[in-house]
Amino acid sequence: MESKLIPLIFAVIFCIPIKTKAQQINKPNIIIILTDDQGYGDVGFNGNRQLKTPNLDRLAANGTIFTNGYASYAVCGPSRAGLITGRYQDRFGYSRNPLFAPKDSTTGLPLNEETLAEALKKGGYKNMAIGKWHLGAHASQRPLKRGFDEFFGFLSGGHKYLPEQLTRNDISEVNSQFDAYNTKLLKNNTRVDETAYLTDAFSREAVNFVEENHKKPFFLYLAYNAPHAPLQATEKYLSRHPTIKNKDRKTYAAMVSAVDDGVGLLLDKLEELHIEKNTIVFFLSDNGGNESKGAYNGVLRKGKGSLHEGGIRVPFAVQWPGKIPKGIKYENPIIALDIFATAIAQANVSSKNTIHGKDLIPYLNADKKEAPHEELYWKMYDKQSYAVRKNNLKFIKNNKGEIGIYDLSKDLSEKNALKDSSTQKELKRLYSKWDSLNIKPMFDGLRQNKAYNLKHPDRFKNVEKY
Ligand code: CA
Repeated sequence: MESKLIPLIFAVIFCIPIKTKAQQINKPNIIIILTDDQGYGDVGFNGNRQLKTPNLDRLAANGTIFTNGYASYAVCGPSRAGLITGRYQDRFGYSRNPLFAPKDSTTGLPLNEETLAEALKKGGYKNMAIGKWHLGAHASQRPLKRGFDEFFGFLSGGHKYLPEQLTRNDISEVNSQFDAYNTKLLKNNTRVDETAYLTDAFSREAVNFVEENHKKPFFLYLAYNAPHAPLQATEKYLSRHPTIKNKDRKTYAAMVSAVDDGVGLLLDKLEELHIEKNTIVFFLSDNGGNESKGAYNGVLRKGKGSLHEGGIRVPFAVQWPGKIPKGIKYENPIIALDIFATAIAQANVSSKNTIHGKDLIPYLNADKKEAPHEELYWKMYDKQSYAVRKNNLKFIKNNKGEIGIYDLSKDLSEKNALKDSSTQKELKRLYSKWDSLNIKPMFDGLRQNKAYNLKHPDRFKNVEKY
């Protein structure tokens, strides 16, 4: 009795939070499975019958499908910056796809932003990032400096899938933006000789990480670059799509099949280890599909790079068996920023910065009946395009400078712009208020590649060998 009382008295005197073993055990594991440029219509759970995704459908059937789930941007880099910080990325100037600039500490995620890995670290989590990073290649911005204990993947925005094409030994052999797509993979700080198809390698590492770390809370950020270009697949997956005649579509479908197999292996592992009820698994794409490269956004207008629905509404689902409803569709608009808020709330840690998402769990359980967000916002600085959604009404200024209001409850394809000047005025006012808190882009992006090279002629010179 006395031996138990003494630490308790100390805890009371020094205000030390008393954590019971049960509290520690109950922190759920967090897994984010992110795909790259997968279209809204490119999953079985959103109605696709051509492209088979049995394991993504299994994840969705185990939990909740978000029919109105959004990315915070319409291309890769800024969308990932939003996801990993839980904040609208224009608040910190991450408004462009960053260049591969390993000597430039300002091209990437600012260090005063907190990643989800850094936040969860405060709760004792073990964190791993796998796949595409795209949040800065400078030594100060790499995953192991941003809260992750382990990393397996590549730092730039795109990568080749066939291991025989990974010919650059390290970044000292990179001489252009696109050379970076051929580098050998990084395992923590070491370059490795990979022999597997890239997507299979990422799935293997994910399963191994879970196997090795399942006895304590973990966070796995599994950021597949599939099915982003280049369209490359192996016969194992191509052969599953004998009826698809279009070559790009067939290869794209095969790339999604590889992801789907990996998701199956991961879900199997959670069940085998009996941790599926203590693991929240999110699945989403970072932006809409590029229909000129094999993707399908269903009835949604446009695709990757556009703030019309096809560019930002993505396949999105979450499972947490026993904790959130199973087999339902959640129709209220949600956004990728909500993942950060959900994860830290369930892990019982606080964020360093103001976050813009909501913990979705009480909404999914109907403890909260209202919609999680009054409005959602998007901005593409270089295209002078923006959008705001309030309930079912969306005001958009698109890439062509056209403006329109659409009622998404009746006009999902954004075909019939409403003539409603008072709504337009109100949504523009809300947007301007939101935008007043944003800052200008912090770094040059892919579109400024040539200009950046002129300003930084030593961009690829004397780069360290790692
Ligand atoms: Ca993308």
